Amino acid sequence: MDSKKIEDGFRLILEGIGENPNRDGLLKTPSRIAKMYAEVFSSLEDNSNEESILSTQFIEKYDEMILLKDIPVTSFCEHHFLPFSGKAHVAYIPGNRIVGLSKLARTVEFYAARPQVQERLTTQIAELIYRTLEPRGVGVVLECVHSCVTIRGVKKHASVMFTSKLLGTFKSNATTRTEFLSLIGK
Ligand SMILES: [Zn+2]
Repeated sequence: MDSKKIEDGFRLILEGIGENPNRDGLLKTPSRIAKMYAEVFSSLEDNSNEESILSTQFIEKYDEMILLKDIPVTSFCEHHFLPFSGKAHVAYIPGNRIVGLSKLARTVEFYAARPQVQERLTTQIAELIYRTLEPRGVGVVLECVHSCVTIRGVKKHASVMFTSKLLGTFKSNATTRTEFLSLIGK
C-alpha cells in the first residue's frame, strides 16, 4: 500500500473541507489514516489466494448442519468509505469434508478487509465455501449497521441491513432453509 499517496490525498481532503491540515490536532491525522487503511484493507495486499483459507479440510461423515453464529464483522462501504459492522452467520451441510470453525471466521474477515458492499461480501463468503469445500449447501446471513446511514440524513436510529446468500440445499430445500433461519433467530 502506498501510504505516501494516502497521506497526500487525505491532506487534500482536509483542505477541501476547509480545515487546516497543519493545525496540531490534524497534523498527524493523514499518517494515522494511512496506518488504519493498511489494517482495514489488508486483504488487498494479502497475496495468498483465497482458496488457501479453507485448504485444511478433514474427511468426516456428518450430514447435518454446521453453523457458526454471531461472527463479528466490520467492513468498509465502498460508496461512502465509512465502516459498516454487525454479525455474520455462516452455515453449511458437508459433502464429506469439514473445516475448522476458525477458518469460517477467517473467510469472513478476509473478504471484509477491503472496500465492500454488504451484498457482495455475503456472496463472496458463501461462494468460497461452496467452491472449495463442495458441501451439500451453504447459507450466509449478514446483519449490519452502516455508518453512512446512521450519520447522515434524518439521523434516525440505526436500521439493520440484512443480506443472505443461499446455495445448494439451503436454496432448494425449504426445511433446511427454515432450520437455518430459526437457528439464527430469524
Ligand atoms: Zn454507504
